[in-house]
Amino acid sequence: MKKVITVCPYCASGCKINLLVENNKIVGTEAAMGLTNQGELCLKGYYGWDFVSDTKILTPRLTQPMIRYKRGEAFTPVSWDEAISYTASRLQEIKQKYGKDSIMVTGSSRGSGNEANYVMQKFARAVLGNNNVDCCARVCHGPSVAGLLKSIGNGAMSNSIVEIEETKCILIIGYNPSASHPIVARRINRAKQKGAKVIVCDPRKIETARIADIYAPIENGCNVAFVNTLMNIVLEEKLQDQRFIDSYTENFDAFYEVVKKYTPEATQDITGIKPEMMREIARTYANAETATILWGMGVCQFRQGVETVQALASLAMLTGNLCKPNVGVGPVRGQNNVQGACDMGALYNILPGYQSFKDPEIRAKFAKAWGVPEISAEPGVPLTEVPNAVKEGKIKAFYIMGEDTLQTEPDLHAVREAFKQLEFVIVQDIFMTQTAAEADVILPATSCAEHEGVYTSADRGFQRFYKAVDAVGNVKDDWVIISEIATAMGYPMHYNNTKEIWDELRELCPIYKGVTYEKMEGLGYVQWPCYDESAQDTGTQYLYKDHVFDRPGGKGELFACDWLPPVESVSEQFPLILSTVREVGHYSCRSMTGNCRALANLAEEPGFVQMNDQDAKGLGIKHNELVWVISERGKVISRADVSSRTNRGACYMTYQWWIGKCNELTGENLENLAKTPEYKYSAVRIEKINDQ
Ligand code: SF4
Repeated sequence: MKKVITVCPYCASGCKINLLVENNKIVGTEAAMGLTNQGELCLKGYYGWDFVSDTKILTPRLTQPMIRYKRGEAFTPVSWDEAISYTASRLQEIKQKYGKDSIMVTGSSRGSGNEANYVMQKFARAVLGNNNVDCCARVCHGPSVAGLLKSIGNGAMSNSIVEIEETKCILIIGYNPSASHPIVARRINRAKQKGAKVIVCDPRKIETARIADIYAPIENGCNVAFVNTLMNIVLEEKLQDQRFIDSYTENFDAFYEVVKKYTPEATQDITGIKPEMMREIARTYANAETATILWGMGVCQFRQGVETVQALASLAMLTGNLCKPNVGVGPVRGQNNVQGACDMGALYNILPGYQSFKDPEIRAKFAKAWGVPEISAEPGVPLTEVPNAVKEGKIKAFYIMGEDTLQTEPDLHAVREAFKQLEFVIVQDIFMTQTAAEADVILPATSCAEHEGVYTSADRGFQRFYKAVDAVGNVKDDWVIISEIATAMGYPMHYNNTKEIWDELRELCPIYKGVTYEKMEGLGYVQWPCYDESAQDTGTQYLYKDHVFDRPGGKGELFACDWLPPVESVSEQFPLILSTVREVGHYSCRSMTGNCRALANLAEEPGFVQMNDQDAKGLGIKHNELVWVISERGKVISRADVSSRTNRGACYMTYQWWIGKCNELTGENLENLAKTPEYKYSAVRIEKINDQ
């Protein structure tokens, strides 16, 4: 038996694992002493590995390239030569016929690794000649990236996962740590044991609310009003850090003009929180010696996601909770490598290393390195705008790597219609997902245990993972497949290994220059920025040590705006708010965890709809009963999970189930800047099945 070090492929806590391998099979796991997990794992880390050996519990591994030469007909297994040349020639044909902007590609925030994401965005920018590349950050922490870039200059956690347990106050808003990042949740528990105050602001009484010093059951969709009110109290009660404001921030006057209106009495009807509790939250946070804010999708997946992130960054600046250890702003990234996909520039408006595609010098640098005349100065198409771009005839081909668009995007009916209009769909994945089943070409890739590379965890930490087993079937590494298509399209792209890709990236991105493979060897953990290759530069545990923000002039921007209600509103016909949520046993579109025996046994199709016991009683619905959940976009079957932990007037579903897909119900309602859908607020009704 051999032990191979890897990084958990599920959430962005970045837990290190020893895979126990015997006869080319993963037979067990051990928690390794990684920086963030320190010898601990959650159930997914321990039991989430048998998918690699193709259990076929939910869906089979893709083990052979396949082409569907004609829509409506079956897939034909083909050789790699045929798959690559067919794909390349169809893409060339579409590019020539409709222009360079007619093809869209995705990065993958799952097991592919940073190198594959770098190569994919290079494929878009150097081979296709556009910026039409995006990743699942668009539907999750896109607003965190955009909001933090605007406020303080870096779209990532300012501090580190390891610091969470040393802080004196943790303000958790729109984030369910025990379901999303169990190892982060443990650090919150430890902080509490060490005396930290824990404040949970969430409409549902989530697990962490049970250990909270203050649990604020805020109304769904009130975030901007809620954070404005906290900032109003900080200023009215003179709890601010005036020296920090005067020295390191700008825009106070315009900011205060907005915030002064948001007294706790004025916002009580919007937030649902009584003024006394609101004051207690503001005082607890502002008076703490050190305080950190953690947030998740309950902040981002609203029409004012970016503004809420900017407001949270402003709250941290007002109270001096940045630029030092054990404080900060913490967008805790969901998928294991969504931070990495963003770091690599798998974004329609940002080049690798968060360099601006609007800067001619930066574009020229990339063009020279990649041997092309220019990099497009036009932003690409955001992932969430693909259905509209297809409808308008702008996008004709879609190359999807490690994403299950037909499961995870909002308003699936609209996405399906767009797929019908696309002339060419390529899916590169490890499983026959809902999206792969609709493809014209399937390119089977190696899983995360079958290749090596680097992931980034939520706190900017780069870590290496290693190949543990030989691949199942006739599959190739993601970066190899992309390189072969690029070469077949007339752009020679050759790498011998992932290190060559990584070193090319380092040369082009100053903030990663010092992150060598050697520094990340074994259990190594290097957080960007890391500028110097010397062993002395071990990266950056927390940002802005010198109090200079990465913005023009070096100051942070205080920001506040008026609260807007969510786009949809409940009505007599659709009286409940539907919000999408996570569950601890499953990950993303479930193609991996649904194929792991232990995890698959935790629950069965269809998934659940959590609802309040009083609402259920009014509808005559019992716990575990099958129900219809209906919105103006669709109708799905689900199982009622009735309890008092869910607030009245709202219900909650996860997006992972194949029967009862909640994204049949959700609406697009994109946030203005980050183009993230308002998954947290769709109007629905729930009916007993026998009422039909
Ligand atoms: Fe750690 Fe997240 Fe994996 Fe659980 S799912 S073991 S918390 S990385």
